[in-house]
Amino acid sequence: MGYMKQVVTRYAPSPTGLMHIGQVRTALYSYLLAKQNNGKFILRLEDTDRARLVTGSAENIIDTLAWLGLNWDEGPSYQSTRKQIYQEHAQILLKQGKAFEKEGAIWFKMPTAGVTTWQEVIGDKQISIENSLQQDFVMIKSDGFPTYNFAVVIDDNLMGISHVVRGVEFISSTPKHIALYQAFGWELPIFVHLPLILGSDKSKLSKRHGAKPASDFREDGYLPQAILNYMALISWTPPEGKEILTIAEMIKDFSLSAIHINNPIFDVTKLDWMNGEYIRKMSDEELTEKLQQFLTDHPAKEKIGQVVPLIKERIKKLSDFVPLTDFLWEEPEYDLAIFEKIKVAQNNQLEVLKQILETLENLTKPWDAKSFEQQFRQLADKLGVKHADIFQLIRVAVSGQLVTPPLFESIQIIGEAKTVERIRLVIQRYPNFP
Ligand code: GLU
Repeated sequence: MGYMKQVVTRYAPSPTGLMHIGQVRTALYSYLLAKQNNGKFILRLEDTDRARLVTGSAENIIDTLAWLGLNWDEGPSYQSTRKQIYQEHAQILLKQGKAFEKEGAIWFKMPTAGVTTWQEVIGDKQISIENSLQQDFVMIKSDGFPTYNFAVVIDDNLMGISHVVRGVEFISSTPKHIALYQAFGWELPIFVHLPLILGSDKSKLSKRHGAKPASDFREDGYLPQAILNYMALISWTPPEGKEILTIAEMIKDFSLSAIHINNPIFDVTKLDWMNGEYIRKMSDEELTEKLQQFLTDHPAKEKIGQVVPLIKERIKKLSDFVPLTDFLWEEPEYDLAIFEKIKVAQNNQLEVLKQILETLENLTKPWDAKSFEQQFRQLADKLGVKHADIFQLIRVAVSGQLVTPPLFESIQIIGEAKTVERIRLVIQRYPNFP
């Protein structure tokens, strides 16, 4: 759809904490709308409520947007640096008798007759609110800073914002904003109030639903593309119900009229699935590089590349790499009770372990996955033990775990000296089961 005016959108967070995952949707939809119309996306920090400011919050918001690739065309602008502008606008309304001063503050005289009506994009409906329900409100506080309700209108107008995209909780403030637009004789922007995101139990989204600041998802090893893709789909269904979309496809296909009116449910399981899909879409080289960057203190960065093909299908987020593979470079902690779970008869396990050790010590073939497999299959046949059972015994002996990436490739990576040492240690410590 085409717009007559230039499309200018903004993401206008208050720096009162870390950017929450739910806010990614607001920023993303504003961004998509601007980009698909060759418009402008502005980042504006609404930092005039000085008591609620949190140190580091603005930086967190800026870093998170940059990590997501939601690049703004203008900004970041800080409302706290624009005091003069709000003062001047308050003076205009004072002069016109539309505002008054009381107890140190400048107030807006809210019209109390009639109704305020506007067209809401989502759900394509008119919203009407009785003005008699409204009250005069503060525009400039006694500390000289504007209130949110005043500054948001001044800036949206001066910055040429065509579409105000924000959370549904701001609907109740919208009549105040509209009264200000009318007092100044300004044209209204288009209002897009996004539905509230809920947790799986349909209560307001919170930590216990797996929701957290977007930067925490980053630290857990989620990929920005997956976060964007998931948050795009949380309130929007692309044409043909496509589930995995590049940002370019989102820009092309996004449409305000296709935003759902219902409250979406944040589903961390779905997000995990999607992140896994993005991991698998990467080439082994890309994933290696991502992991090397992500795992800053990794003890064997140069070996990550060897491991990637073994675990690529098994991880959903970059951090999953660590518990799955740390036995490759760190000595496992053995909980010896684990041997009770192995199917090789308990009174035979120690003997089989000794034979495994001997096989490895006498291995003449190259130290590689193929030879291990061949030798251990032969050994199992010789001892009359099931192949799968002997493999499981070896797995536990070298890793301390019942589940690992492919066993023989893992042994190859652990290397001869360490593998032999681990099996020896297990033999020494092998428990006396009752
Ligand atoms: N500063 C508001 C917030 O932090 C934004 C409201 C708006 O977009 O108008 O949510």
